Amino acid sequence: MTKRDYYEILGVSKNAEDSEIKKAYRQLALKYHPDKNPDDSAAEEKFKEAAEAYDVLSNPEKKSRYDRYGHQGLGNSSGFGGGGMSMDDIFSHFGDIFGGAFGNFGGFGGGQSQRRKVNYGSNLRVKIKMTLEEISAGVEKKINVNKNVSCKECSGTGAKNGSSFKTCSTCGGRGQVSRVTNTFLGQMQTTSACPTCGGEGQSITEKCTSCFGNGIVKGDEVISIKIPAGVADGMQLSLSGKGNAAARGGQPGDLIVLIEEMEHAELIRDGNNLLYTQYISFPDAVMGTSVEIPTLEGKARVKIEAGTQSGKILKLKNKGLPSLNSYGRGDLLIGINVWTPQTLTKEEKHIITNLMTSENIKPHPGAKDKNFFEKMREFFQ
Ligand SMILES: [Zn+2]
Ligand SMILES: [Zn+2]
Repeated sequence: MTKRDYYEILGVSKNAEDSEIKKAYRQLALKYHPDKNPDDSAAEEKFKEAAEAYDVLSNPEKKSRYDRYGHQGLGNSSGFGGGGMSMDDIFSHFGDIFGGAFGNFGGFGGGQSQRRKVNYGSNLRVKIKMTLEEISAGVEKKINVNKNVSCKECSGTGAKNGSSFKTCSTCGGRGQVSRVTNTFLGQMQTTSACPTCGGEGQSITEKCTSCFGNGIVKGDEVISIKIPAGVADGMQLSLSGKGNAAARGGQPGDLIVLIEEMEHAELIRDGNNLLYTQYISFPDAVMGTSVEIPTLEGKARVKIEAGTQSGKILKLKNKGLPSLNSYGRGDLLIGINVWTPQTLTKEEKHIITNLMTSENIKPHPGAKDKNFFEKMREFFQ
């Protein structure tokens, strides 16, 4: 990812004064502030970008390295790695820049514009059993999930009638308190969660009687889960926001779906291929025949050539499982085994004994059959 020039981001010239840089950042920070641009990820990026530019250009040492070597000169020592700054970084570093200013934006939450604590719901895990047929086709499953749901009585606010709130007087609704201490480096401002309201910025004057002020109650939800074709045992899908609801209107958790593959009665899965073993009788191996093979889409009839040897592997192309991340399907491999009878009647023994004198019955001596070894290797790959 190529980074934009910091001066360009802030819209100032290379020889801009400190005060000019600060002013430019302040304007951008106010313009792209998340309180003014809720759910606008482009604005959030701009907000972060401006904060990173200001972090460097407002620091004489970082600025001089940047002026000489550009982005390369900062490496990881800019303090924010390659991943830019998080919102928490920004507010804890430069909260003072717009903290006060935001008090003037009556329409944008006023005093609440500081970072308030957000409650998070926990993730939920469920297992889903799938047959190979379902894995082959992909499936939508509806499951009933027992979880914390938003309280209907108070619309998840936790307050009686959904409106019995008062702004926290300790933090003025900001959810954070700042403290200025004098150190030998100068004044330092530290910010921490408000002890009175626990960081939520407001307190409930009268609690909802259904949820006792939590905003969540035990309940269940029928969730439909689309599972793509080609998944495998042990894979996890994550459904964002479908986990437990959070206390008082926070961010719900995720629903993590663990795939459990059920064993098929006849077919064995090997990656995207399917394996099947077919026994044929000695006369069928000699004369040729056709057999019915189970596939995930019903039976398929497969021809066995006259003179087929035990150990031959036949391939039904594209009758395996679809690939999860690309086009194409695996194959269904059929390993042929000639069935050797273990009990015989007197008459049958007689027939076999007669056959033994025949020249054509004698086995081929191929002790080093390269093709056969290749197939064995392929089979176990
Ligand atoms: Zn408070
Ligand atoms: Zn409630």
